Amino acid sequence: MTTPCIICVAITGSVPTKADNPAVPTSVSEQIESTHEAFEAGAAIMHAHVRNDDETPSSDPEKFALLKEGIEKHCPGMIVQLSTGGRSGAGQTRGGMLPLKPDMASLSVGSNNFPTRVYENPPDLVAWLASEMKTYDIKPEIEAFDLSHIFRAAAMYDAGEIAQTPYVQFVMGVKNAMPVDRDVFDYYIHTVKRLFGDDAPWCAAGIGPNQIVLNEWAISSGGHARTGLEDNVRLDRDTLAPSNAALVKRTVALCEQYERPVATWQQARELLGLRQVA
Ligand SMILES: [Zn+2]
Repeated sequence: MTTPCIICVAITGSVPTKADNPAVPTSVSEQIESTHEAFEAGAAIMHAHVRNDDETPSSDPEKFALLKEGIEKHCPGMIVQLSTGGRSGAGQTRGGMLPLKPDMASLSVGSNNFPTRVYENPPDLVAWLASEMKTYDIKPEIEAFDLSHIFRAAAMYDAGEIAQTPYVQFVMGVKNAMPVDRDVFDYYIHTVKRLFGDDAPWCAAGIGPNQIVLNEWAISSGGHARTGLEDNVRLDRDTLAPSNAALVKRTVALCEQYERPVATWQQARELLGLRQVA
């Protein structure tokens, strides 16, 4: 049988605001409601950042705790992935929510440029975040903004610095970082298979109008797909996405087109080697 496709919904991020699209969920209660709709539409993983009341990025562990509790209550079985990304805080505050033991957390293992700044991931901080994830048995999703990040993840895994096999996500289309390039994408897949084995699952995320492009490339190549308002707030040039669920439905339609079943949360947990929950 064709491997089911795991859909991850990145509901909020740290950049888009309600001025960009009023559907961006920024309070914890909005995030829970938006995730619930996306879960019912077919998403098995939710990737989340939290925000302050004025919509600026936060890394407050209490907000993350409320969000995680709400998702576990309203979307039982859904995989919770919390962001340790550098736009939400600095230094070790980025990992302050890891003691909550989410199923997964994002982990950036190297630095690169972002649209207006350097995305700083110094080796000592990366090592600390990875060790916290190991302590709390959290599976990292490696955010590969560059080929070197895939190699870094493999080296960390070989050195026993990462508890579980890393799940690599190719991020393409961030201004000043890796553009959306098919040859590079294919080489990323080749590299993941070479370093982690032919069956190693991987996923991809595209920014803005490239979200759907990366969805199509990943789904048609046997990978898994990320969508959601964090990366893209539009359905097309002229239409704002009405919800995270609307973006998930678009990804589900592509899965149907390429005859990939959409992974249930149980299947997603099995594919990623995560604990099953009742
Ligand atoms: Zn994120």
